Amino acid sequence: MQHFAHNVSILKKQLLPHVRFMATVKADAYGHGAVEISKTALRAGAQQLGVASFEEGAVLREASITADILVFGALSEEGASAALAHRLTASVGSMQDLLWLQEAAEACHKQARIHVKIDTGMTRLGLRHIEDVVQLVQVANESSRIILEGIYTHFATSDEELFELLEPSDQENGSTIVPFVEQQRMRFEEVLQAVRELGIIIPIVHAANSAAALRNPRYQYDMVRFGIAMYGYQPLPIVDADLTLHSVMAVRSRITRIVDIMPGEAVSYGRTYIATRPEVIATVAIGYGDGIPRDLSNLGRVLVNGQCAQIVGRVCMDQLMIKVTDLVVQVGDIVTLYGADEGCGSILQATEQLDTIPYELLCRITARVPRVIIPAENLAEDRQ
Ligand SMILES: *Cc1c(COP(=O)(O)O)cnc(C)c1O
Repeated sequence: MQHFAHNVSILKKQLLPHVRFMATVKADAYGHGAVEISKTALRAGAQQLGVASFEEGAVLREASITADILVFGALSEEGASAALAHRLTASVGSMQDLLWLQEAAEACHKQARIHVKIDTGMTRLGLRHIEDVVQLVQVANESSRIILEGIYTHFATSDEELFELLEPSDQENGSTIVPFVEQQRMRFEEVLQAVRELGIIIPIVHAANSAAALRNPRYQYDMVRFGIAMYGYQPLPIVDADLTLHSVMAVRSRITRIVDIMPGEAVSYGRTYIATRPEVIATVAIGYGDGIPRDLSNLGRVLVNGQCAQIVGRVCMDQLMIKVTDLVVQVGDIVTLYGADEGCGSILQATEQLDTIPYELLCRITARVPRVIIPAENLAEDRQ
């Protein structure tokens, strides 16, 4: 948690003074454990939380977390009831959503808090047309059962290549290509302008995930929805030297057996690895049932006692084998699958090998893997 709290506090320093910090803790806080992460984030300076579903929000309420929680995911009739029951803020992307919330609020004599979701080009959730936004905002504003607290959108390319990092002004004169993230922002501005013209003030306007927030302060609006950067991964292709993030999760297991094999002997299901010389093979108690991708078979590289070892043969559900020939290892030694900053035993190496992103590998770690939380002793010092 030291690393996590450090990340939160340095990210907070990247925000303009009035900007709220939302800690995005969906998917069990990207696999880290949502309750612990949420509590630490709030202590380290985050002001509110974001989750994907009403179930995820309810889990946090059951853990006595009282901060505001925005649910990004789609509403349903059941979702609307859950929003009221657990005081979760709902994302509203249609008139139907609004009606469900109004009914649920009537039924329990409460008020529903909403953030209106605008689709500016992600084509995932939200209202696409300004007329629909205008109509919905007017209805919401007049309803005594609805608190119209926020309006937001989500960018599709905020973490993309260097070209996207150019300012539109750099590209004027001759070139008419505007980065898509800018096109989305301009579309969002049109929507905000239409709402302003109604004379309706929506207190919390937001658009940025980690990448957008760090890319340009103009994307920060009133709040930033930080996710991947809090967990220690640089979201942008250009790395700001002042922004040293530390990876929060390490995935470790132990060597349970070591054997010598002869040339011609094979390892694991399907005999996909066959030794061509005498080798030493160690068994490690972790597999795809724990979330280690089977695609790392004969590919992944782990860290043992500071040495690099290759996964050989297929990754099994509960175990995998590594080649430790010429390495100094014994039964019981700790094996780091993820946790190094780069190279062997790092998530970054695995994302390159598998052509995926840290988000996916973090989320894949399954519930049966015990989360051991190392407390952040100096949290008070880190806090700003
Ligand atoms: C997941 C998510 C985020 C966080 O994105 P990061 O890239 O991890 O910072 C923000 N907003 C929404 C709507 C999301 O779904």
